[in-house]
Amino acid sequence: MIKLTLPDINAKYLYTECIKGIADDALRLKLQQIENEIEAAETVYLQKADLELICEIAAINKNQNPIVAGNVLKSDLTKLYDQYLVPKVKSAREYYDEIFVAVNGVCPFCAGIGTAKTLDHFLPKTNFPIYSVTPANLVPCCRDCNTEKSTTYATIPEKQCIHPYLDNDRYFTERWLTATIVPTDPVSISFSIAAPLNWDDCYKQRVGNHFYEYGLAARFSKAAGAEISTIVDMRKGIMMNCSNEDFRDQLAGTGHDNKYLLNGWKRTMYIALSQSPWFCSKEF
Ligand SMILES: [Zn+2]
Repeated sequence: MIKLTLPDINAKYLYTECIKGIADDALRLKLQQIENEIEAAETVYLQKADLELICEIAAINKNQNPIVAGNVLKSDLTKLYDQYLVPKVKSAREYYDEIFVAVNGVCPFCAGIGTAKTLDHFLPKTNFPIYSVTPANLVPCCRDCNTEKSTTYATIPEKQCIHPYLDNDRYFTERWLTATIVPTDPVSISFSIAAPLNWDDCYKQRVGNHFYEYGLAARFSKAAGAEISTIVDMRKGIMMNCSNEDFRDQLAGTGHDNKYLLNGWKRTMYIALSQSPWFCSKEF
């Protein structure tokens, strides 16, 4: 839900850099034999993502360990990530860090609710080992998003989560998130999907699926609940003498502030609060 710039490193380059860290000559030579296959697979990945059809890339059964290309096994490629890209002592680690720091700690999948702690394989490496060290498939991610999504992947277009590097701008520049204020004590808020009416059903289902896969309804409500409690304290304190209309306008002002993400919980929450006559006129 946060659009990221695709890392300026291609798959073949990073693959080659990872291989340089291998001391075992036979393993290194075996892996070098499939550099072109790694490059070709990246081309397919980028083309499919551009068409919003990354789900068409064939998966490998996670319980099997077949040859992926040349004489290279799935386990050779997954180990390449675990043992030659991630460890801080390996020279290729600088590229891991380069991809990771580009987001300034903000997780793109939950629109910054969580702090990015790791790189997520958008297509899980256990099912798509050819993309174990493909930069386009490595997205900084928070622990909660990593846990929520686990190792699932889409097999039909409607189930594809939003790809922060490669997905269509519509998911980042058009409003599809909404919220409703629930008149309870304490005040609560319910987030849901309200995609543009002119969107194809597939686009609508994709944002809904992303919202579901990452457990965003509950996570957004929790984050918003803490903020609403602060707003209520302000309403009872420094904003006590503010008219209902001024209070509403202040909430709306924040809701339309472009410094907050269009489909983030905060902006959506402020709009919902400003549009709730019950909240704006309530005596706390
Ligand atoms: Zn996250």
